[in-house]
Amino acid sequence: MTPILEIEDLTVSFDGFNALNHLSFQMQAGELRVIIGPNGAGKTTFLDVITGKVKPTQGRVLFKGRNLRRYSEDQIARMGIGRKFQTPRVYLNLTVRENLELAAARHKGVFATLFQPLSREERDRLHTLIDTIGLRPKANFPAGLLSHGEKQWLEIGMLVAQSPDLLLVDEPVAGLTDEETHLTGELLVALAESHSIIVIEHDMEFVRQIARTVTVLHEGSVLCEGSIETVQNDPRVIEVYLGA
Ligand code: ADP
Repeated sequence: MTPILEIEDLTVSFDGFNALNHLSFQMQAGELRVIIGPNGAGKTTFLDVITGKVKPTQGRVLFKGRNLRRYSEDQIARMGIGRKFQTPRVYLNLTVRENLELAAARHKGVFATLFQPLSREERDRLHTLIDTIGLRPKANFPAGLLSHGEKQWLEIGMLVAQSPDLLLVDEPVAGLTDEETHLTGELLVALAESHSIIVIEHDMEFVRQIARTVTVLHEGSVLCEGSIETVQNDPRVIEVYLGA
């Protein structure tokens, strides 16, 4: 089976410095993959290159077998790669439901956002999504009244509303309470039943909650990959990351 994401010998240089250095990576559809690594390991650049924000200096990124090199960031998003940044970007004056409706419409293009109402089926899907992200009691609240954790879930919902095949989620639990962190883990595990997901995260307890396979980046390459137990007990990982 063709992997959903395949990265071959990827190097990204900034002024001669290799932020990514001959990195290879593979992921099958339906995987929930966690990426960890010390500051400067190349995690952000890794996401930037998958979304097309940064182009490879060398090597290839294949999404469902298609080389992404020729495509713009917008085209790549439309091909089915969605990214959630660390800071929530929701519309504070719109309600939870309106934020989700706007995200779903925007995915269909500017014209649709302005002129085409959502279909019955699309509305039903958003209705279910509001339950999935745990915001049913606040569906008609302006997003500005949500807690930081709830805004994170809303933004994850807005991403899902755009029907991506691959979700890239950057540090989703930074600044959340323990309870919100746990609920975020449950949400990502639930979404992983129908999406492929890459999560970048530092919080090791959270990583233990959600991870099936962990990839450790170090100095722009994959240092080690495997189950959470394998990674935690690898002396190289302990030296560069966990022991720090
Ligand atoms: P991480 O997200 O793991 O902290 P980054 O991908 O942000 O790592 O950065 C990897 C390395 O590449 C760092 O040493 C960083 O300073 C460098 N880097 C990232 N982006 C740029 C850039 N636009 N120009 C120069 N150096 C960069």
